[in-house]
Amino acid sequence: MRADPSPAPDSALDPGAPIAVTQVTKSFGDRRVLDDVTFTARPGRVTGYLGPNGSGKSTTIRILLGLAAADSGTATITGRDYTGTPHPSREIGVLLENAGLHPGLTPIKQLKIAAAASAASAERITAVLDEVGLTDAKNRKIKTFSQGMRQRLGIAHALLAEPRVLILDEPANGLDPEGMIWLRGLLRDYAAHGTTVLVTSHVLAELERFIDDIVIIGGGRVLSQTSLDQLPGGTDLEAFYLSTVHAATDQEAQS
Ligand code: ADP
Ligand code: MG
Repeated sequence: MRADPSPAPDSALDPGAPIAVTQVTKSFGDRRVLDDVTFTARPGRVTGYLGPNGSGKSTTIRILLGLAAADSGTATITGRDYTGTPHPSREIGVLLENAGLHPGLTPIKQLKIAAAASAASAERITAVLDEVGLTDAKNRKIKTFSQGMRQRLGIAHALLAEPRVLILDEPANGLDPEGMIWLRGLLRDYAAHGTTVLVTSHVLAELERFIDDIVIIGGGRVLSQTSLDQLPGGTDLEAFYLSTVHAATDQEAQS
């Protein structure tokens, strides 16, 4: 079955959206990784940013966070460049791939350092450690942690400032089934309180259980921006994703 990639909704043109990526192009050497990428993420919703490995998801997030420069186009969070936001770490929670955790520190120390930047209180550190299930491990060195525990700590870091915008690159990596259920509840809860959540993942079956909106990227382009509840009847996320990506590959082969 083939589902036609649906056009981006009007919100894709809203430059004031909490997260707005507008006509972003980026090449590494002579390889174009992002080609005129435009999408938005809305408040109170979890937006899944999906695409094959190497399709430019992390690059897009790095551009949003000012860690890489776009060749052209704009990427803004609440209408501003990340670097132009007065106190970005108070408003924007971030989990990057290979989150910058220090193996020699304990979660408590790591979060205290982060709390200084985001003006979070000692009570908040205790609360996020509890929220991610690391209270019992808070005084252990991070180097003794499993990948799932590191991921939970990275998420704790992202949540520290009670951000209005959460940007999580592959948060499900390394989580066990219970961790996935926990993550789902956590992100739903933040969205329910009005947070704008952008999350990349390749675990489609799981993602389907907690995202509202979908942006699919492939071949450097946005192939579809739509909502889960707008998928054609009887189509699950996996089927929609595969048909969207395959349709784009076929089109490219024909041109
Ligand atoms: P994704 O997160 O979707 O898997 P990435 O954004 O990490 O994809 O990478 C997209 C492409 O850009 C990949 O082919 C990757 O090798 C390349 N790439 C990413 N960062 C760099 C860089 N700093 N220098 C050169 N190539 C890069
Ligand atoms: Mg990536």
